Amino acid sequence: MEIIVSVTGKISAEHGAPVCGLGIGAPGVVDGEKGVVRSSGNLGWENKPLAEDLSAMLGIPVTLANDANAAAYGEYVCGAGKQYNSVVLITLGTGVGSGIVLNGKLYEGNEGAGAELRHEVIRFGGEKCACGRRGCFEAYALATALIKQTKWAMEKDRQSTLWRLCSGDIESVNGKTAFDGAQQGDKTAKQVVSNYLRYLAEGLANIANTFRPEAILIGGGISAQGEKLTIPLQKRVEKLMLGHGRYAPVKVLAATLGNDAGLVGAAMLAKNNSL
Ligand SMILES: [Zn+2]
Repeated sequence: MEIIVSVTGKISAEHGAPVCGLGIGAPGVVDGEKGVVRSSGNLGWENKPLAEDLSAMLGIPVTLANDANAAAYGEYVCGAGKQYNSVVLITLGTGVGSGIVLNGKLYEGNEGAGAELRHEVIRFGGEKCACGRRGCFEAYALATALIKQTKWAMEKDRQSTLWRLCSGDIESVNGKTAFDGAQQGDKTAKQVVSNYLRYLAEGLANIANTFRPEAILIGGGISAQGEKLTIPLQKRVEKLMLGHGRYAPVKVLAATLGNDAGLVGAAMLAKNNSL
């Protein structure tokens, strides 16, 4: 918090103008309306009135949102979602994040505890999830799940190009390895990518059916795969979702703001609140 106060002061001095509002995207369950971090494992906070505390230190209004929600809003305002009114952002990395913007408004659920699309079950009795249930989308969509599948397939196919791609060191497999192998035509790599996309598509089709957004944006490290990811994913989602994409299409697009999405979104939410 002290660093935030100090940086805010520096920005104000550099621009010769006061900072008129501050937006924060914080990890955990965040009640944006009340400005309270309900619980954040990463920060060790419980019911922390962050907006009020910072506002008292800075003397300006402070707007708070969950970091994934702020990222969704950022992509909606000036990223991959800027031409749409309703978008859902799914970030795929070491964690799965999600944020929902409906008709231009961020949807956070009661006390900010909603929009947790990663815990939709896509396989009853499936892989164990950190939330305690089994078969959640996150358990299949994580980059670590893809890496696990890649390693497993490599053990079964010693001839696969995947071995060459990681110089024979299976521990250096990352979220990109299977995509690279598939690009080079390796059968085992193609199978791994295909399975991964199958699970992603099940989750995204549920999202498409629930919200019917104009676009679902894919962020996180894996979005660097661009159309290699989004085109096959779009086709699969269309097959699964209601109406098979014959009406009210749902585009699947790569997010474009990267790590800046949360910053931009938090700033825009603060701007909206101070207007
Ligand atoms: Zn879960």
